[in-house]
Amino acid sequence: MADCIFCKIAKGEIPARMIYEDDEIIAFHDAAPQAPVHFLVIPKKHIPNLMSVEPGDIALMGRLLNKARELAEQLGCAEKGARFVINCKSDGGQTVDHLHIHVLGGRPLGWPPG
Ligand code: AMP
Repeated sequence: MADCIFCKIAKGEIPARMIYEDDEIIAFHDAAPQAPVHFLVIPKKHIPNLMSVEPGDIALMGRLLNKARELAEQLGCAEKGARFVINCKSDGGQTVDHLHIHVLGGRPLGWPPG
């Protein structure tokens, strides 16, 4: 999608601190980290949010979640764990309308969210 910032990152049109890339997925560090480890895992395909996932995207969703887990382990969260978050639409706190999984770790995180 032309004016989507995460599509632009996926196409290499704007820079990001990349962690991982394959044909379908990229992962990069969040620009405003909320924990010592804070990165985003996104599909290259423009899917606006979790509620717009279609049946044909289900395998991709599985790959995204598994890649988030794998990268969290590689970035030092294997022993103490991490939080995997998908904000969805306005009440969910989503600010970038391109589906993404936040992975936060490296410190204890509070619950419930504010
Ligand atoms: P959300 O509020 O769930 O939509 O999260 C969007 C996240 O994207 C926020 O944590 C932002 O800090 C992050 N973000 C926005 N623009 C960029 C960017 N250009 N590079 C990396 N992270 C970004």
